Amino acid sequence: MEQNQCTSCGRAIPAGVAQCPHCGATLAAAPPAYSSVPHRGGMILAFGILGLICCAPLGIVAWVMGNGDLAEMAAGRMDRTGSGMTQAGKICGIVAVVLWVVGAVISIMLFALGTAIPFME
Ligand SMILES: [Zn+2]
Repeated sequence: MEQNQCTSCGRAIPAGVAQCPHCGATLAAAPPAYSSVPHRGGMILAFGILGLICCAPLGIVAWVMGNGDLAEMAAGRMDRTGSGMTQAGKICGIVAVVLWVVGAVISIMLFALGTAIPFME
């Protein structure tokens, strides 16, 4: 069945009704057929996990894409059923980036320490 979304309360309502059964808002101005953009939760989650496992730049992609898509879902322009996966992918992406940065800082410190030791002796 075709479904619309209430412009007032955001809940799903049957297409073609003039009034929202949930909040009673008049829906004359609502679009006739609400078309939702499919979510990219699976892809974002895959990027986030790949970012954690091997390549941190994919974590950045998951983070940025997840942020954008969650904003689209909040605005009602994207399929919200993928919000859990999108959120999980975004978190994986953030963790991947943080681990990457921490790893880089530790490497630089170890390198600096390694070059400093001969001079201390
Ligand atoms: Zn409503």
